[in-house]
Amino acid sequence: MARPMENHTSPATASNESQSIQEKDNYAKVIQTNSTPIPNKKYGNSNVKALYANHDGKTAVIFETREFYGVMEDECKLTLVGKFIKTRPQIDKISEKITVQGKVQIGVFDYRTVFLDFDNEDDCKTVWYKRLIEIEGHVMWLEKWSPDFKLEEDSPVVPIWVLLPELPFHCHSWHYIKQIVAPLGTPLMMDLATENRTRPSMAKVRVEINLTKPKMNSIWIGTEDKSCPRKGFTQKSEYENPPKFCTNCKILGHSILQCRRVDQKKNEEKEVTGNSQSDKTETNEKGTK
Ligand SMILES: [Zn+2]
Repeated sequence: MARPMENHTSPATASNESQSIQEKDNYAKVIQTNSTPIPNKKYGNSNVKALYANHDGKTAVIFETREFYGVMEDECKLTLVGKFIKTRPQIDKISEKITVQGKVQIGVFDYRTVFLDFDNEDDCKTVWYKRLIEIEGHVMWLEKWSPDFKLEEDSPVVPIWVLLPELPFHCHSWHYIKQIVAPLGTPLMMDLATENRTRPSMAKVRVEINLTKPKMNSIWIGTEDKSCPRKGFTQKSEYENPPKFCTNCKILGHSILQCRRVDQKKNEEKEVTGNSQSDKTETNEKGTK
């Protein structure tokens, strides 16, 4: 009997088994996260209990890391952040542009940032997948809220389409496809043609990827069981228009290769080394005299 994919331990290229098992667990988690229920955020979770301590001479309230970045974070999983490059439009203008089935609360963070709090997952997803919305000539960039949210930094986590050309047709089902793309990021949904099975030449799936992680241009898909040794093939995975993210500035819109700040830094360093070199020549000249 064929083993299900979840029990398949080491990927074909993995050299370190324990690492691959840990990664596999992460992929399993990634696949599960889609269906967790939304907790009550008005009260919070009564199981979360902070400790009081002393930190650098100050009274400190300490939360458990896995609760602060888990249970508590989940309570805001339907919150998106809308960022404008310059001053944002009026809240009612933003509200008009956000079409939802349920309710959305718009909170003002500052003159160019708003928080969008949804009451259901479908609305939150529909809006987030747009990545940007144009309102009165201003572009609102959307990102998922996280406990590490910083006004001056953009989140490198974005939803993008991943194309899987010539993926075997029997893999064009959500349960299989989400396992195939899990190493790339969190699988979100298939496109309509894949779902309706009307484009057998290629599957297309939306995946939440982290732009700071290396891009995966292919995945190795294999089969094995007791009577059949492992064999497989390389499946291409193409990212459709991934946005650029600068790891130096920590913002979307340009890559580190196009970063002016990095160029500036290099030029400054050049000037400094240039100066010190001319200093040396000067001393040498003086020395020879
Ligand atoms: Zn930059």
